[in-house]
Amino acid sequence: MARPLSRAYTCTFGAPVIAEVDPRIFQLTYFAACMDCTFCSDACCQYGADTELPRVAALEKFQPELEAYLGVPRSEWFREDPEDFGTLDEPEYPGGRYTRTQVVDLPEGRSEHNEWACVFLDPAGRGCRIHRFALERGIDVHTIKPMVCLLFPASFDKGVLCPAYEFDLEDELVCQGPGPTIYRASRDDIRWYFGDDMIAELDAMEPEYAGQPAIPGGRAIPLPTVP
Ligand code: SF4
Ligand code: SF4
Repeated sequence: MARPLSRAYTCTFGAPVIAEVDPRIFQLTYFAACMDCTFCSDACCQYGADTELPRVAALEKFQPELEAYLGVPRSEWFREDPEDFGTLDEPEYPGGRYTRTQVVDLPEGRSEHNEWACVFLDPAGRGCRIHRFALERGIDVHTIKPMVCLLFPASFDKGVLCPAYEFDLEDELVCQGPGPTIYRASRDDIRWYFGDDMIAELDAMEPEYAGQPAIPGGRAIPLPTVP
């Protein structure tokens, strides 16, 4: 059950506004060291991702360079075609509207988990090419990468900071299991979007849930030691 925060916290982009937290973010764990993972093949990117329209516009500022970097024309980055996904209203997303990243076939052997993935995923190596593009150029990745991707596997729904829905689907997240909690792994990004005050409140709440399994009868997870 969601727990109210002392006040609402507004994302630096103006939305979402978080007023409650699902304590399972302090309990559920996953591998988390994404680029060191030898078994996931970036399976979490297989369906693409919701992308707020301000991030679409931010990526367009790099269009010629990014098209060359990806080898993919701008017209194939997103599912904006109304016959496909289109662009939809969503007040919880920055800018109030969003689309989804395009999904493409993966080369044979790229992943043992799925045959397709987000167009921005590296089809040969590992990882998100928007993320790498930003890192290589000294761009703050938060300004060009979809918010849901950076918060993952934390997420938000109707003002509640919560686990991504994959945690509610059996065997959907291949890296679920031993590792840090969702909160510990996403804490820096939560701070970037929502600020120090929200982190201070969540930090104070976190020990109450340490060692408690998120699923009744499940394995207790100790509070990780993170500076
Ligand atoms: S969240 Fe899980 S599936 Fe996604 S890249 Fe990280 S370890 Fe892999
Ligand atoms: S934008 Fe990047 S992190 Fe998000 S789904 Fe696509 S490849 Fe994965």
